[in-house]
Amino acid sequence: MIATNPVDVLQALIRCPSVTPHEGGALTALQQLLEPLGFEVSRVMARDEGTPDIENLYARLGTDGPHLMFAGHTDVVPVGNEAAWSHPPFAAEISEGMLYGRGAVDMKGGIACFIAALARLVEEKGAPKGSVSLLITGDEEGPAINGTTKLLDWAASRGEKWDACLVGEPTNPDQLGDMIKIGRRGSISGTVTVHGVQGHAAYPHLADNPVRGAIKLAESLMNPPFDHGTDNFQPSNLEVTSIDVGNAATNVIPASAVFKFNIRFNDTWSAEILQAEILRRLDAAAADTTLRPGREPIGYDIVWSERPSHVFLTRNNALIASLSDAIEKVVGASPQLSTTGGTSDARFIKDYCPVVEFGLVGQTMHMVDERVAVEDLETLTRIYRTFIEQWFANAVA
Ligand SMILES: [Zn+2]
Repeated sequence: MIATNPVDVLQALIRCPSVTPHEGGALTALQQLLEPLGFEVSRVMARDEGTPDIENLYARLGTDGPHLMFAGHTDVVPVGNEAAWSHPPFAAEISEGMLYGRGAVDMKGGIACFIAALARLVEEKGAPKGSVSLLITGDEEGPAINGTTKLLDWAASRGEKWDACLVGEPTNPDQLGDMIKIGRRGSISGTVTVHGVQGHAAYPHLADNPVRGAIKLAESLMNPPFDHGTDNFQPSNLEVTSIDVGNAATNVIPASAVFKFNIRFNDTWSAEILQAEILRRLDAAAADTTLRPGREPIGYDIVWSERPSHVFLTRNNALIASLSDAIEKVVGASPQLSTTGGTSDARFIKDYCPVVEFGLVGQTMHMVDERVAVEDLETLTRIYRTFIEQWFANAVA
């Protein structure tokens, strides 16, 4: 296969059915593409109790600095209803200028374009003066326990150090070149259980309805706003995502009520300070007797789900400018620098080096008929190539 053609590379990758946690041949295909370009390739198996074993890949071209990392994943989400696809999800068929397949934009397409960009550069000018690495996980769409974090630990323990990272996730809402992600909001989830006393709905003085307390506590988290946004981030936002009582009887006051929430927060807060603020609000609301006159403060417990995702903002101007300039050179317009959307593996990479994210147009990711414009693959390859040359020129200067 000719690695300089992103369409060929992407078709080969889509034809490997690498639904998390299966490798599906995708990493072997990558290895076969990277070794002829001069990369030293390592396959790294990661294991953890209660999660499936995952195979990951780390490949490096060159031994000296400066060192640029490209990060991504070859695992894909399930196809859903296969009969609903207009082209089979692992066939990589092209129809009317669109290449169809699971992972086309999220994110085998980004990987294909990066490899093609590098292959063209190596073919025409030789390898960059420095090193280029690919950090590719098979566990981004799954629990993400045996993926990027473990691979970063593994590489760092072998003495790998990076100066900058580009994550090739789809970042553009509408058109290629719209948007670079230069940071991400943090995320924290929690479950609050409000305790009451079960009883007859006609004798409320003998019971203590936890629904009243749950409403009060939930409201305290939704109002007032946590902040009004910062220079680089939209306002932090908390959503109550579920309120459960599990009570089928209208004449029974239940014994407890549970609600869950998730907050996406900006750089006004650290995760720890925000958790303290949430507890402060809950305690203040628990003492409010508006809905429960004459009663004790509301009794509640809170359990924080998972580890929090920390907020981050990349301030490395050379990295952002190299990418932004490359996009402008190729598409003729400069991208928006954004911190919107969910979390990504960039939140792990930022602990090792400055990181930005830029890939394809995300509109069809995770959907039936996931697809990419063949023209976009060529454009992204040209952007990546310009970026690589620009970044090394800036880093060496
Ligand atoms: Zn992805």
